[in-house]
Amino acid sequence: MIEVAEAIEIVRQQTLRLASESVAIDQVLGRVLAEDVVADSDLPPFDRSQMDGYAVRAEDVKGAPVSLRIAGESAAGRGWHNQLEEGQAVRIMTGAPVPAGADSVQQVELTHELKDGTVVEFLESVELGKSIVKRGAEIKAGEVVLNAGTPINAPMMAVLAAFGYASVEVFRRPRVAVLATGTELVSVDQTPGQDQIRDSNNYSLSAYATLAGATVERMPLTGDETSLLKRQIAAAAERCDVIVTSGGVSMGVYDVTKAALKELDAEIFFERVALRPGKPTVFARLPNGTLVFGLPGNPVSVAVTFNLFARTALLTMQGATDPTLKRETAAVARSVKGTTDRDSYLPAQLTTNDDAELIAFPLKWGGSSDFVSFALTTALLIVPANVKSIEAGSLVTVLRLP
Ligand code: AMP
Ligand code: MG
Repeated sequence: MIEVAEAIEIVRQQTLRLASESVAIDQVLGRVLAEDVVADSDLPPFDRSQMDGYAVRAEDVKGAPVSLRIAGESAAGRGWHNQLEEGQAVRIMTGAPVPAGADSVQQVELTHELKDGTVVEFLESVELGKSIVKRGAEIKAGEVVLNAGTPINAPMMAVLAAFGYASVEVFRRPRVAVLATGTELVSVDQTPGQDQIRDSNNYSLSAYATLAGATVERMPLTGDETSLLKRQIAAAAERCDVIVTSGGVSMGVYDVTKAALKELDAEIFFERVALRPGKPTVFARLPNGTLVFGLPGNPVSVAVTFNLFARTALLTMQGATDPTLKRETAAVARSVKGTTDRDSYLPAQLTTNDDAELIAFPLKWGGSSDFVSFALTTALLIVPANVKSIEAGSLVTVLRLP
């Protein structure tokens, strides 16, 4: 049995990065950047007005109320490209270039323009530099604005677009096959007969793999027979980078996943992790290089072990700088119990209190089969091995789930 941290390290060591590809900007949300994104221009590209108002020399309106002659108009996309002289004002709009010679913009609310549009009265003086964002104040051309290894989120899309990235170099999506073992399983569109249940793992696993950037293929339900399982694993390996199985890794008579992997000459890196839930987790590689995560069958174990191990592999394949779940510290809202020899990763909900402190509410723990309680989980709360219990109010480490 190995520690969770050691198991994660082994996954990172054994996982190779995939190639990158050039992808059109409208298809890159959620993909991981394979190149640094560099500003191709200053931002703003010219001295930009932040307000609707009048561009002036602050000096000229020092003695407000004063009136200045309107020399022209600068609108967004259609600037006034002359020199503003002493005693002049230029009507200006938000986002428009500030004319040479002007050093401040007075907002329209503090002015009064004559009806004929020739003269504007300033009701108040204006601070030097007011409402102007100088060229390059936000970003200078040539600056790296996003680093390779970053998963692209919605606000980053604006950054890509603003600097002309019509296509973006991102890592290829990993191809994942999910494969559920268990004679008891029937598919979602069937009514379970005697002793049967519907397969739910393939659906949570597909969802988590999709969130981790993979494309997913669901293999047919395989029962608990080694030869069929071997055939399905071999078929999936032909087209996938990663296979995630569920069930069949415990010590029961029908737990055949490891036998199938061994008969396929897989190299097994670990098969037991000091983790609750999820002790009998298997990580292996087939001779062709396909990685296999043999997860236990219980739906909560599946969710925990996928996110600790398989997700790490999928993000490492995509070159993510930070492939593991985000660790945070939270105060636990009620006491929780640990277990001997294994770290517990318990389902919890994260919230913040009025002082903006992170609070972890442990969810009802009906055991590793309780996937209905788990549906409300937003984080895993870690109780280290051999800690009997953690009292309410204590600080704990939590991992935020995707
Ligand atoms: P196993 O690890 O194969 O011993 O399975 C442990 C428990 O998880 C058993 O109660 C199984 O019926 C259940 N289980 C296994 N696979 C699935 C699945 N795909 N969907 C829902 N429950 C499952
Ligand atoms: Mg089983």
